[in-house]
Amino acid sequence: MIVVLREGTSTAAGSEIAELLASVSGPGAALQTVTWGTDTLFCLPDGSVTHIELEHLQGHPAVERVESIAVPYQLASRAFQAEKTIVPVGNVRIGGGEPVIMAGPCSVESETQIMAAAHAAREAGSHMLRGGAFKPRTSPYSFQGLGLPGVQLLARAGAAVGLPVVTEVMEPQLVPAVAELADALQVGSRNMQNFPLLRAVGRSGRPVLLKRGFASTIEEWLLAAEYILAEGNRYVILCERGVRSFDQETRNILDLTCVPLLATLTHLPVVIDPSHATGRRDLVLPMSVAAIAAGADGLLIEMHPHPDEAYSDGEQSITPAMLCDLVNRVAAVHSALSGMSGSSGIVEAGGQQSTYLQSGALVASAG
Ligand code: PEP
Ligand code: MN
Repeated sequence: MIVVLREGTSTAAGSEIAELLASVSGPGAALQTVTWGTDTLFCLPDGSVTHIELEHLQGHPAVERVESIAVPYQLASRAFQAEKTIVPVGNVRIGGGEPVIMAGPCSVESETQIMAAAHAAREAGSHMLRGGAFKPRTSPYSFQGLGLPGVQLLARAGAAVGLPVVTEVMEPQLVPAVAELADALQVGSRNMQNFPLLRAVGRSGRPVLLKRGFASTIEEWLLAAEYILAEGNRYVILCERGVRSFDQETRNILDLTCVPLLATLTHLPVVIDPSHATGRRDLVLPMSVAAIAAGADGLLIEMHPHPDEAYSDGEQSITPAMLCDLVNRVAAVHSALSGMSGSSGIVEAGGQQSTYLQSGALVASAG
């Protein structure tokens, strides 16, 4: 349940409205004020308010309206916001109708490597540059990333070619420093339920690329997004990167069903990472094309100037030439499907049409 307050209402502890909400939400409930654009809201767990309390709330002079949301991920839900969220990252708009390609190496390794990757990404027609400097590695003996100096190298490379950059942050304390350098922050699969980190990126002032936990349900994923939204950060991009499967042929199994499904559940844009989903260079192109045909708002792609020499994830990293081919094929699939109503990429959700029929898309290649 979302309680929208009238403009100018004081929500300070001890204020009348805070006391009323605390009393109706019951003991133990986490009551949080959310700033949502120009609105001030309170989210209460659904079902916690009796009919009489609801009437009391609705009649209170400080309350503008009360919205009943039937799903636990309230701010993320289509029921709360029917209009799709378009996330601005630098000069790029994610969710605006044109697929956005974010490409670059798994890890930032050196100035030479990230500069070469940045130029290759730019020349291939990528819209953003990715690169990890804080790496969540399964083994403590694997390359851990260059840390903050790596983020600096990434930011410089992005600026040199005019592409906004996205990079992972793993610790809440490092969020402000990374947010100063990067255009968007990535929360990795292993950290999807690191709640202090979610709150910290929610307060960062930067758009957040939230990867799905490799064993997380869609509801858990949307509730992780809710943590970020509840901090007043409206710009969350969901990234499906494969979930764990019984089959060892691929690194993970790519859940493409989530793309049209999420368009019915949430207003947030969805991108696909076929690199971690498959773990194999040769499968990145076909799954990228399939993701765009399913209506994804973009792709996160591992591309390395010399994939076989990569410090991490070389086997799933494509070459610059493969990225050129991928960008062209994705554009062809998108334009072939974008005029076709009823095609696989079009989902009617809450009276809204997702992805292909949305207008106003502008993804400017910078330069
Ligand atoms: C990555 O993008 O390099 C990464 C570590 O991804 P994930 O969190 O999906 O494993
Ligand atoms: Mn990787």
